[in-house]
Amino acid sequence: MSIQNLLRENIRKLKAYSSAREEEGFKTANIYLDANENGFYKEMNRYPDPLQRKLKKEIANWRNVSAKQVFLGNGSDEIIDLFIRAFCEPGKESILVNPPTYGMYEVCANVNAVEVEKVNLTSDFQLDVTSIWDQVSEKTKLIFICSPNNPTGNRLKIPDIVDILTRFNGLVILDEAYVDFSIAGSLLPLISQFKNLVVLQTLSKAWGLAGIRLGMAFADQEIVEALTKIKFPYNVNSISQQIAYNKIKNERDDFYDIIQRVLRQRNYLVDELSGLSYVQKVYPSDANFLLVKVDQPGALFVYLRKKQILIRDRSKEPGCEGCVRITVGKPSENKKLLAAMKEYEKSSCCALT
Ligand SMILES: *Cc1c(COP(=O)(O)O)cnc(C)c1O
Repeated sequence: MSIQNLLRENIRKLKAYSSAREEEGFKTANIYLDANENGFYKEMNRYPDPLQRKLKKEIANWRNVSAKQVFLGNGSDEIIDLFIRAFCEPGKESILVNPPTYGMYEVCANVNAVEVEKVNLTSDFQLDVTSIWDQVSEKTKLIFICSPNNPTGNRLKIPDIVDILTRFNGLVILDEAYVDFSIAGSLLPLISQFKNLVVLQTLSKAWGLAGIRLGMAFADQEIVEALTKIKFPYNVNSISQQIAYNKIKNERDDFYDIIQRVLRQRNYLVDELSGLSYVQKVYPSDANFLLVKVDQPGALFVYLRKKQILIRDRSKEPGCEGCVRITVGKPSENKKLLAAMKEYEKSSCCALT
């Protein structure tokens, strides 16, 4: 597999903008008069490290990969967009997604005039590998696989993912946004074995840092270099780099502890929700949310909304008829949610069914 051949021709030939700091290596002098910053100020007056070297080193150490296999973005959403821009020729080439799944793959493709091929998950929310092979053609450049999947919550079977990795001549982008909540663990170790595997992770979910917008892609060095060439020079700001570095370096014990607390709350919610008369099914979850099938999802949504509780109506997604998605909250929030859902059970709007 040649990454260079997979890239769009204009990207392959592109000469990247080189920022002042990149040319000389970051922070090697005492006096910086190279980037038109304002030295009269003391804090935040300097451009951030465009290559996020310190943070990447810490992440690489934590995830047990080489820093050269790490790319960082302004959330995973930026990274999804960069992959489409780097590898898919607008109006000609396509990505493949497996609905119901995360909506940003399709949105980013649409923004870039890149076609979206869709192969729905099976009725038990697993990859339909046979139909994927029927669909894949010369123009399919990227296959997005989300595991654990949003909004269904389940993880996908590893042999199916490996089968696709082995046979597909494009990149497989495995979105592991929720992997830290899953007992199955990450496929990150496979990036050294499969050059076409990209693993996406984020600090937005298990790390609780959605506000700083820090997404991570782990992949072959050549892929990391291609993305680095086309990203905005300062795509991850100084504050986000600092906060992420401090958290990952110093707060890993808390991180694992909080995951356990979320999982206990998830189990509690599963038990309680399953006992409600209008709940038809609580799907098994490897994530920090639950997909729940109810009698009237729209009515439940409106009822909870009036009680100042927001959940997500996913009932229009393929295979998700009747379903809402509920994030696992903290104990006090979950108690209030359950109290409201029990009230709804007794109320006339539920009895109408
Ligand atoms: C929440 C989520 C993300 C995270 O996106 P960020 O831009 O990093 O916040 C990525 N993929 C999936 C499937 C998600 O649910």
